[in-house]
Amino acid sequence: MAQLLLREIPIGAIQGVLFDKDGTLSHSEPHLLNLAKGRIEQAVQRFHGGHPKGSEISRLKSLLCDAYGLNSQGIHPGGTIAVASRHHNLISTATVFCLLGESWPQALALADEIFAAVDARQDQAPSTAETRPLLPGVISLLQSLRTAGVICAVISNDTSSGIKSFLSQNNLHDSITEIWSAEHQPAKPNPDAVKALCKLIKLAPAQCALIGDADSDLQMARQAGIGISLGFMAGWNQPPILTAHQHLIHHWDDLTVRADTKIPHNFSSP
Ligand SMILES: [Mg+2]
Repeated sequence: MAQLLLREIPIGAIQGVLFDKDGTLSHSEPHLLNLAKGRIEQAVQRFHGGHPKGSEISRLKSLLCDAYGLNSQGIHPGGTIAVASRHHNLISTATVFCLLGESWPQALALADEIFAAVDARQDQAPSTAETRPLLPGVISLLQSLRTAGVICAVISNDTSSGIKSFLSQNNLHDSITEIWSAEHQPAKPNPDAVKALCKLIKLAPAQCALIGDADSDLQMARQAGIGISLGFMAGWNQPPILTAHQHLIHHWDDLTVRADTKIPHNFSSP
């Protein structure tokens, strides 16, 4: 059992912490911006057999930017590219093609081609710790949690391989015990995803904190009965707008941990 402190004020005793990845542990905005731009570029090249009119190109780009959550300041932290899985982004892309007059089978096939082309390009130049670095203060916090005996896990809508490569690029395998990806069933934001991940780390949700940068993470945490839900504000150029948190973190240095042997009587075993 360990005590979490937010800006030096105790906020509760926990035995585990579930972390979101993009925009929480990882400064993912440049990587995701690059991914979104690559998909838009491929969409322009493939729409109408590669020969769209100028006005169609502008509309296509504008709709895809809106669908992904891109704006003049970068990525909207609550947008599809920031929060949703690859599959949901693919469906958003296909929906844009429907808005431009394609049938659903054509739209889905185009979206599939686009995503496969961008994935193939990424396989040739995979992301590294430089392109998807940790946010400042993450390493020190994870080390403190480990020292205090707190089990840490990642719950993300990235693929399992994406999460694993992020962990190995940043040498986090010793700090993160388990992962729950978009391929696990059910994926987040289903609260059963939290319950299943807690089961993997042999804790009850009430014994854990969950930290994320999206309301969908925080609502899911509450519905799952998580002990403490924390919103992380510093992962994007534009701070996320959060409403479902118990507490907000503005920098990882805000959060500290203290080993605490007292076990509150209200916690039950999983
Ligand atoms: Mg996130």
